[in-house]
Amino acid sequence: MTPEQLEQFKKILAEEKSRIEKELSEIGQKNPKIEGNFNVRFPQYGQGKDENAQEVTEFEKNKALEASLEKRLNEIIETLKKIEKDGYGICQNCSSEIEKPRLKAMPTAALCSSCAKKI
Ligand SMILES: [Zn+2]
Repeated sequence: MTPEQLEQFKKILAEEKSRIEKELSEIGQKNPKIEGNFNVRFPQYGQGKDENAQEVTEFEKNKALEASLEKRLNEIIETLKKIEKDGYGICQNCSSEIEKPRLKAMPTAALCSSCAKKI
């Protein structure tokens, strides 16, 4: 992979990272001790019974959203680390190069397409 291509993937990943972090900060608080970790805020709508019930529903919904966003965020963080360590685009299973079209479609891919089919 050329340095230009690598730079391009890095840019795509960094953009997605900040987009996800923004979404996460809307529902939670960033954990300053752990990278890529957020804690969901408990929403405050009011003191009424209906409002409390709504808060719980919203909280559960946000927790599920947080879990999937965090998972994606951590994949991106790991992939960005690989770029720094020159290991980007290498299949974790067979150590061959991951196909460019596959990386374009899925920049966080850790396996080449034949390994992805096998595993
Ligand atoms: Zn492979």
